[in-house]
Amino acid sequence: MRLKDKVVLVTAAGQGIARASALAMAAEGATVWATDLNSALLREIEGTPNIRTAVLDVLDKEAIVATAERVGAVDALFNCAGYVHAGSILEASDQDFAFAMSLNVQSHFWMIQALLPAMLDRGTGSIINMASVASSVRGLPNRCVYGISKAAVIGLTKSVAADYVGKGIRCNAICPGTVDTPSLADRINAFPDPVEARRQFIARQPMGRLAKAEEIAPLVVFLAS
Ligand code: NAD
Repeated sequence: MRLKDKVVLVTAAGQGIARASALAMAAEGATVWATDLNSALLREIEGTPNIRTAVLDVLDKEAIVATAERVGAVDALFNCAGYVHAGSILEASDQDFAFAMSLNVQSHFWMIQALLPAMLDRGTGSIINMASVASSVRGLPNRCVYGISKAAVIGLTKSVAADYVGKGIRCNAICPGTVDTPSLADRINAFPDPVEARRQFIARQPMGRLAKAEEIAPLVVFLAS
């Protein structure tokens, strides 16, 4: 029970990596606020021991502030909300760019602004931000806007870490490769030949397969502990 007596808040916990991480942290004894835009997805995990659910659209700053007031101080925040825009710079519109920066970066910025003060009051806290290997780590084809936004998440993470590491706060980013989640399945199914598209996704993976969300969750547990 590595997270006994800890309180954790997770964004976008309705499915994928965030959901697997929320369940893993709850299994380690944390009280986990699993939040998501989609109430139907949250209902699927309602009733799980140690899980509390709350609808939260991380594009809505007022809702973030209200949720922070409702939840109170947390020991760890997992900022996982994000989306993938597929395409090169010439295939991305201003709207694509603005949306990626809002959902993938500004939501993390607002969540940290809302929850960090209570962490500082208690002199302890762990913030975990979701970046990606497609970021400042690597440039990947057809991930221009996505890569820009995830590089910004790494910049945000390093900045918060530098400002607050001396005050008991850790801030880390995780940078997964391709993980088999519902949104990846949607992206694969959008290809004219989804079977071939999945084969190509797998062919790009040095380990010969896609990662599973449950394989990322232990890292989140570790960083929250
Ligand atoms: P997903 O994309 O399958 O699920 C996304 C979740 O976000 C859904 O539950 C959805 O309801 C929720 N959501 C969407 N908009 C929201 C909003 N405005 N407010 C709150 N919730 C909202 O999950 P995933 O594939 O595990 O991706 C999660 C994160 O991991 C993203 O930031 C993604 O960029 C990152 N990531 C994913 C992969 C991958 O290959 N799947 C790899 C590296 C990083």
